[in-house]
Amino acid sequence: MLRVAVVGSGPSGCYTAQSLVRLDSEVCVDVLDRLPCPYGLVRYGVAPDHEKIKSLQNQLRAVLEHDRVRFLGGVRIGPDGVSVARLRRLYHAVVYCVGAATDRRLGIPGEDLPGSWSATQFVSWYSAHPDAADAGFLRDARSAVVIGLGNVAVDVTRMLARGPAELTPTDMPQGALAALGASRVAEIHMVGRRGPSQARFTTKELRELGTLPDTDVVVDPAELALDPGYTDPSALPAPQRRNVEVLRDWAESSPTGAPHRIHLRFFLRPAELLAGQGRVRAARFERTAPDGHGGVTGTGRHEVVEGQLVLRSVGYRGVPLEDLPFDPATGTVPNLCGRVLREGAASPGEYVAGWIKRGPTGVIGTNRPCAKETATSLLEDAPALALRAVPDDSVPLLHAEGVHPIEWEGWRSIERAEADLGAALGRGVVKLPDWQSLLKAAAGRAPY
Ligand code: NAP
Repeated sequence: MLRVAVVGSGPSGCYTAQSLVRLDSEVCVDVLDRLPCPYGLVRYGVAPDHEKIKSLQNQLRAVLEHDRVRFLGGVRIGPDGVSVARLRRLYHAVVYCVGAATDRRLGIPGEDLPGSWSATQFVSWYSAHPDAADAGFLRDARSAVVIGLGNVAVDVTRMLARGPAELTPTDMPQGALAALGASRVAEIHMVGRRGPSQARFTTKELRELGTLPDTDVVVDPAELALDPGYTDPSALPAPQRRNVEVLRDWAESSPTGAPHRIHLRFFLRPAELLAGQGRVRAARFERTAPDGHGGVTGTGRHEVVEGQLVLRSVGYRGVPLEDLPFDPATGTVPNLCGRVLREGAASPGEYVAGWIKRGPTGVIGTNRPCAKETATSLLEDAPALALRAVPDDSVPLLHAEGVHPIEWEGWRSIERAEADLGAALGRGVVKLPDWQSLLKAAAGRAPY
C-alpha cells in the first residue's frame, strides 16, 4: 500500500485524495489540516449566503469518508508542529494543498489604520474562523469602501448590504450575525483601478448585487464610458461582455431610494487612506485612464471617497512553508505538473496542488483537474516511492510525539454541537467561532 499525506483539507486537498484513491486501489491517504474542521475555504471562505456553493461540502465529505481516506485535524505542519522532514519520513509521498493563506498588500500610506482591514480578515470573522476575532469592523461605520473588483470584493459588498432577515438562516456565528444585523452602513463603494471590461468578478456574482432587497446599485455611465470596451463591447470575450451588459442596465436605471446603496466605481487607483480621530475616515484615489493594452496610467487627478470601514480585497497570496522551495514573485511552490522542483529538479515524494501550485485564481471546480494532474504525476512515480519503508500508521507515532489528531468522529461531534447550538438559538446550524469551543466539541463535551 502506498501511504500518502495530503496537507490541507480544502477543495484541492480533497480532490487530490479523491483522484489518488480513484486512480489506484493500492493507495491510502491521510488528509491533514491544522484546523479541527475540514473543507478549507469552502467552510471558511465561501460566503454564508451562498448555500449552493457551500453544499459542495457534501461532495468533499464523501471523499473524507472513503475507506482509504482518513481526516486528521488539528495537526500543524511546520516548525511549531510536525516538521516537513518528519512528515516525509512518515509517508511515501506528501502533497501540499495549503492554498494561499494571506492577502496581498496595497503598499499605500494609511493601509494599517484602524478601520482598514483585508477582506480576508472580514470574511474569516463572519465565517467563524477560529483565528479571527471580532475587531469591531462595523463600529461607527456609515460608509464602507471595498477596494478591488474580484469575487471576494463582491462577496463582502453583498454581506454588508444584507439585512438580518437574510443573514439569520445562514450558519454565520451569532456574534457576527448580531453585528451585521445591527450595521448602519448605508453606502458601500466598490472601487477598481481598471475598467468594467477588465473586472475580475464573474457575471453571476455581479448580477446578484442587483437582486438584494432594499439596495440600489448605482453606476455612473460617464465613468463606464471611459472604457473603450464598454462603448464597443463587440470584441470582448463573452464573460466580460456579459459583465458590461449588466453594468449598462444599471447605468440606465434610476435609483429607487432604497436604504442601502452599492456604488460600483472604476478607473480609480488607491493612493492613500486618510485618518480622522485616529482611524480611517476616507480613501484617496487617483483617477486612471486606459493605456490601450489592458492596463491603466495615472492622470494626476484625485478623488476622495468617504469610508469609516475600508476592506482591501486585492487578492490572496501564498505563504512559504518551512523547508519547501517558494517563488516570492508568484507566491507559489515551483513545480512541474505538481512535482515540487528543488533547484530545477523534481524532488521525489513532494507534490503540490491548488492555489499553492498555480496561484489564487479560478473557482472551486478549477481544483479538480489541477488535483488530478498532481495525482497522476505522483502515481507515475509510485513504483520508486514505494521502495522506501514507512510506518503502517502514523497516528500512534504522532501521539507518542505529543501530537493528537482530531479524527473524523471528533469532527462529527463538532457538527452535532453546531446543530445543537443552532437549535438552541432557533436557527439552523450555527458555527462555533473559537478554538476553545471547537476543541471541547471535538472531545464530545458541551462547547459552552
Ligand atoms: P481576484 O479575482 O484576483 O481580484 C483581485 C482584485 O484586486 C482585482 O480587481 C485587481 O485588479 C485588484 N487589485 C490587485 N492589486 C491591486 C492594487 N494594488 N490596487 C488596486 N486594486 C488591486 O481576487 P479575489 O477576489 O480575492 O478572488 C480570488 C479567487 O477566488 C478568484 O479566482 C475568484 O473568482 C475566487 N472566488 C470565487 C467566488 C465565487 O465563485 N463565488 C467567491 C470568492 C472568490 P486588477 O485586475 O487591475 O489587477
